[in-house]
Amino acid sequence: MVSFVRKAANPDAKNPKRCNSQTPLLRWSLISIDAVSKSFDGKRKVTALVEISLDVSGGEMLSIVGPSGSGKSTLLNLIGGLDRPSAGEIRIDGQNIARLSDDELTHLRRDKIGFIFQFFNLLPSLSCMENVALPLHLKGMPKRETTARARELLDIVQLGHRLDHLPDELSGGERQRVAIARALAFHPPILLADEPTGNLDSHTGAEILKLIHDLHGRMGATVLIVTHDAGVAASCPRTVTLRDGRVAGDVRQ
Ligand code: ADP
Ligand code: MG
Repeated sequence: MVSFVRKAANPDAKNPKRCNSQTPLLRWSLISIDAVSKSFDGKRKVTALVEISLDVSGGEMLSIVGPSGSGKSTLLNLIGGLDRPSAGEIRIDGQNIARLSDDELTHLRRDKIGFIFQFFNLLPSLSCMENVALPLHLKGMPKRETTARARELLDIVQLGHRLDHLPDELSGGERQRVAIARALAFHPPILLADEPTGNLDSHTGAEILKLIHDLHGRMGATVLIVTHDAGVAASCPRTVTLRDGRVAGDVRQ
């Protein structure tokens, strides 16, 4: 478990070019979004995002709120490299993701980004252990190591006693814990969570939120949480509000 805990590195000292002189703490911009627009050209064209610009420093924890359809999931998917912008630029740790090949984007996603979804997205026929081990296995890690690592990750989310259970045999909160363990497989510096408490009762939602805060504190990861829940938003030091695909507010507490 100790190997998992690490301090947030501050690369500014080594790489002064990364410093963002506008931020008082001299933290580097880990996620930089510059005039990003996204439209979907189906039967009817939908403009989901309009010239979004946003900088997120390494180690920040922020919530993204806004009415349904305001573009929150679209923004998260673009940051996570699941989709590409129609215009504008997204840099993750200085890398312009539009310039990456599909293979390079897959590697960036795997190594730098952990996704947590509202409906957990676990594979129903695999045990907790196998769900968490899958991304490690796909990377070619030997079985003994994947087993040890999956065990360690499930311990971190306090599910070390449910290794062989199938998702169906778990409560919603426990399933989300498994999904969080899976998201942490490669120690990602960025965690993206799309309504992680949206499908949970309020007590369980609060527990999952506490776990995410705890991981943020222990890992120094940068965390973006899309949420409908005012309590979740209020627990984050920064809240970005989207409305009609634009940034309508960006408030730090
Ligand atoms: P939110 O997460 O804030 O509810 P979304 O980002 O899911 O909003 O959606 C923003 C807008 O983009 C909505 O009008 C939605 O219908 C549209 N949209 C999202 N994904 C797609 C898609 N794959 N194809 C077409 N339209 C989409
Ligand atoms: Mg959404």
